[in-house]
Amino acid sequence: MEPSLRVQKISESITLKLNAKATQLAADGKKIYNLTAGQLPFRPMSEFVDLIRSESDFIKSFQYSPVAGFPELRKKVLKNFEETRKVSLEGGEVEYDAIVSNGGKHALTNVLGALVNQGDEVIIFSPYWVSYPEMVNFCGGVPVVVESSPFDVFVPSIEELERKINDKTKIIIVNSPQNPTGIHYQDEWMKRFATLMMKYPDVVIISDEIYYELFFYDPRPTYFYQHEPSLLERTVIVDGISKTLASTGLRIGFTIARKELITVLNKLQGQTTSGANSLVQRALCQFDFHQIPVYLEPIKKHLRDNAEVLGEAFSEHKLGHVWYQPTSAFYYLVDFSQTPVMERFKARSGEGDYSVEICEELLDEYGLALVPGEAFGCPNTARMSLVLEKDPFKEAVDILMKFLLGSD
Ligand code: PMP
Repeated sequence: MEPSLRVQKISESITLKLNAKATQLAADGKKIYNLTAGQLPFRPMSEFVDLIRSESDFIKSFQYSPVAGFPELRKKVLKNFEETRKVSLEGGEVEYDAIVSNGGKHALTNVLGALVNQGDEVIIFSPYWVSYPEMVNFCGGVPVVVESSPFDVFVPSIEELERKINDKTKIIIVNSPQNPTGIHYQDEWMKRFATLMMKYPDVVIISDEIYYELFFYDPRPTYFYQHEPSLLERTVIVDGISKTLASTGLRIGFTIARKELITVLNKLQGQTTSGANSLVQRALCQFDFHQIPVYLEPIKKHLRDNAEVLGEAFSEHKLGHVWYQPTSAFYYLVDFSQTPVMERFKARSGEGDYSVEICEELLDEYGLALVPGEAFGCPNTARMSLVLEKDPFKEAVDILMKFLLGSD
């Protein structure tokens, strides 16, 4: 059976592949420090779990949900967005709405599917979340990458971005807080981005805010539309419960945008997947979203502590020049390019991207699983997750430091 050309263009998710290998090695009895996780390993809030339990008493919780989601939940999502981002969606000429989908990934694919025509360019910033280019390819678009690197602490240049905008540019995807770097762009960057966007009125902006609540160093994330509220009219916000309620498996994501787009997304979703998980949506209708920051407080402390352990190890081992401060989400992107271990790899066959080979060696020989930067469009780096418990995390960091220094 010949796969379609559309699907042939997609490459396999390296994150899931490596995670599977690390899990298999651990099952075989090998000591593995699995730092590939894209999720919080904690129990979701008990109030939320209790609501799911009590909603499971009703037949309705097991039947089709309305395609766009339960109206009470959609209203709540809009209200929560207004409250947390301190913007108003009412009173202007444009009407806004929200739709519930099967996770943020599904929300993003629907939005791209609804907006991208063959050959349209979609600008993404590297290091990027693995799925953006693949989703764009699948929808017939052309991913255009604006690169940033460890040298500019992964903050994309506004000038470089402007150079990439042309008549074919349909969408720019902004992801802050960011996977895989664990930073959120500073307010000054958002302000400059807003000013630039005012010059290009036909460009749509997708703001992937799935990690919004997960910042563990102030200031909290801010957004371009807070500087130029009129930009909201052509912004599509994607959010969900996967990261902030430690519920990746429940598959609930939200899209907020002007009503006309939500109507189109509703049509698309109605003919493809139908409405998202009824039981969880019904629980969310009862759930107090104000509880999320309370629930995340100890988790943020844990992430802060682990980030501190990592930062101290970098400076203790005289690798402070490659360190940057992660502030949000739960990742850190290790830069191998400026460390002694790189010399060994370069000696083999010169300059190039060795992130896959490095991660393979780290896993096979040291039991340390990281995700190679190749997946994020960032050569000679690897993503590590900060969620592990403190002691194994310290052990993993020790192994990493020895590896970076090229010593056993
Ligand atoms: N956006 C980003 C940046 C992500 O990292 C993820 C999950 N890894 C998603 C969207 C999708 O989240 P989900 O589908 O689990 O809700």
